[in-house]
Amino acid sequence: MQPDHGIRKWFGDCATLHGMRILVIEDEVDLARTLHTGLTAEGYSVDLAHDGRQGLWMARTGEYALVVLDLMLPGLNGYKVCAQLRREGNTTPILVLTAKDGEWDQAEALDTGADDYLAKPFSYVVLVARLRALVRRAPTTAPPVLAVGDLSVDVAARVCRRAGTRVELAPREFAVLELLARRAGQAVSKTDLLHHAWPDEAWDPNLVEARVSSLRRKVDTAFDRRSLQTVRGIGYRLVDDREHG
Ligand code: CA
Repeated sequence: MQPDHGIRKWFGDCATLHGMRILVIEDEVDLARTLHTGLTAEGYSVDLAHDGRQGLWMARTGEYALVVLDLMLPGLNGYKVCAQLRREGNTTPILVLTAKDGEWDQAEALDTGADDYLAKPFSYVVLVARLRALVRRAPTTAPPVLAVGDLSVDVAARVCRRAGTRVELAPREFAVLELLARRAGQAVSKTDLLHHAWPDEAWDPNLVEARVSSLRRKVDTAFDRRSLQTVRGIGYRLVDDREHG
């Protein structure tokens, strides 16, 4: 399956997934890469596992809002991964990908505790719609931990970490960072940042500039990093600077 130019738009429509962590367990490298590219392009945080054992380990240890699970996997098949997670009380919504030849029974996948399934080859539009529906009806979806590279922003706990090291932020700094992380990779205007972090105050872009400067010192300069970029004439953008040199 090849990447499609429409994929950005399709995934872009998937606003409810924004900032959430998704685990894709898929051994077909091209398909896994395509899913990763499509979802991360819009700022979602996607982790990949290429075999069942690695996927099970990651699903156990990571806090994912969703798992996309292929059934035919080396190491440990998708049925076993799914069944094991459910046995352990893991309630993360799981969408399984089934082969078109029907070798694996879709009903059986649901029996092991999967929440939904999609037969390959599938349409990205449909996949995104299904993922969105799973997030919506998940009863216990935890507030997201936004991750941009090794910068993590735990929205519920109001905790920021760079490569595991806790970074103390003032409330306004945290609010600015949260919005930038929710729209990771995208230019965010000073106006949007003002509305988000200073909802009650008069419009003054100097507020944003001062706060971004202090934020940059704490999350970037202190770690010799450059993830918080200035976008001339617009505002700012938060990126995974390990990928961008
Ligand atoms: Ca497979």
